[in-house]
Amino acid sequence: MLSFVYQALPSRIVFGAGSLATIGAEMERLGARRALVLATPEQRSDAQRVAELLGERHAGVFAEAVMHVPIETARAAVAEAKRLGADCVVTIGGGSTTGLGKAIALESSIPILAVPTTYAGSEVTPIYGITESGLKKTGRDARVLPRTVIYDPQLTVSMPKQLTVTSGMNAMAHAVEGLYAVDANPITSLMAEEGIRALAVGLPRVVAQPDDIDARADCLYGAWLCGTVLGAVGMALHHKLCHTLGGSFNLPHAETHTVILPHAVAYNHAAAPDAMARVRRALRANDAASGLYDLAATLGAPTTLAQIGMRETDLDRAADIAVAAPYPNPRAIERSAIRQLLDDAFYGRRPGPLS
Ligand code: NAD
Repeated sequence: MLSFVYQALPSRIVFGAGSLATIGAEMERLGARRALVLATPEQRSDAQRVAELLGERHAGVFAEAVMHVPIETARAAVAEAKRLGADCVVTIGGGSTTGLGKAIALESSIPILAVPTTYAGSEVTPIYGITESGLKKTGRDARVLPRTVIYDPQLTVSMPKQLTVTSGMNAMAHAVEGLYAVDANPITSLMAEEGIRALAVGLPRVVAQPDDIDARADCLYGAWLCGTVLGAVGMALHHKLCHTLGGSFNLPHAETHTVILPHAVAYNHAAAPDAMARVRRALRANDAASGLYDLAATLGAPTTLAQIGMRETDLDRAADIAVAAPYPNPRAIERSAIRQLLDDAFYGRRPGPLS
């Protein structure tokens, strides 16, 4: 019998081409007066554009965000926010920049106004991560959930093709695992299926024409839905493997998600038939795992761990780490099957067809 718990997270979403122009009004709505604007060094000019739009409401720009939020960068950003008397953080960028904003919010409880420019989804989750001495610690805290998110598809046009595709597959991974999460519920499952559908339709169009704003909007809309699923329900094997490969072997985030996803889905195939049916329907494919693999391959994304920097000699250790601590997953975690999954991903073998 149907039974579930659904808890909505409180965030305000402003979506649409050109919506960045509302940033001053949105900041005012938060009751904030002095924003510290964060970006990566590569996106300093985006941060400066935001600073100009904010005018007097901008206190400073800190364009030093890097992948995985090193504790030293987090401390420097917290100190800068304090020095400038910032009462709000504005992040413009991908998951790395949003993550740095979260580190400030965790320390000081000031609100975040997030302007995402990739499909990573961090802007709608209460999940933070900080890396200290090579170890990335993650946690959940309501204070780090951005209070307002401005999704402007125009800001995603500059994403290079490879980031567009891998970031899109990263977003789909949140939705796929949300469909078979232990705490899945009808609302997040609706969001997940629609998110996968929007990205599966949008990604081929943006690869064909990167400045197609309608298609960019479809992808960003899908990414929002997928990120919301990530923020609302627990993840499983796929995210555990990607966390292991990124954290212990330094593999790039979105690319790792792209390569692993079809294999994690194949692993869970028989144990999560309803989720697989939804993924198939969203992709309009005959099989979930090979459908995801074919989508990534057709879009020119990496399909092997070898391609993205994994060493074959590290696969055993990766399997050991991935099975060391128990976590929820539709199919029991079996060391030998996980090792085989990693081997398949290393060589990029096409899974299935499984149905
Ligand atoms: P990223 O933020 O590291 O960005 C990658 C590069 O692309 C950066 O140089 C960035 O400046 C650039 N970039 C971003 N948007 C661009 C654009 N529109 N045009 C041109 N260049 C652009 O990559 P990501 O995949 O968005 O984020 C990955 C990080 O986010 C990882 O550390 C991951 O763990 C974290 N993450 C966290 C959550 C969460 O809920 N806490 C969710 C997803 C990802």
